[in-house]
Amino acid sequence: MHFNQLKEIIKHLRKVVPCNQCERKFEPEGIQVLSTYGDEGLFYFSCYNCLNQLVIHVTVVDDNDNEKSLNIQAANAPEVSKNDVLDIHNFLAGFNGDFKNLFSETH
Ligand SMILES: [Zn+2]
Repeated sequence: MHFNQLKEIIKHLRKVVPCNQCERKFEPEGIQVLSTYGDEGLFYFSCYNCLNQLVIHVTVVDDNDNEKSLNIQAANAPEVSKNDVLDIHNFLAGFNGDFKNLFSETH
C-alpha cells in the first residue's frame, strides 16, 4: 500500500467513521497505522474526546476499471488499557489474522 493511498484512506476513514461512543470525528493525532499488507490496512483510532478506541480494518476493493472502494470494518479495541498504545501491539503480536472472528465477537 503506497503512502499516498494510505493518506487518502485515512482521510476517507475520518469522514465516514466517527467515534461510536461520542460520535465525534477522530483527530489525525489519534490515528495510527498498525500494519498494511497488499490492499489491506489495519488502523488504530483513539478518540481525543472520550478515549474510545477502535481497530479498523480496510480492504481496497476494485469496483470497476477506475473506481476503487473501501471495505471498512471497525471493532472496539479489545482489552486495551487507556493511553497505553503498547497494548495494541501486544494484541497484534498474538493476533492470528482472523478478522472475521475479531469483528464478530463485538456483536
Ligand atoms: Zn469519542
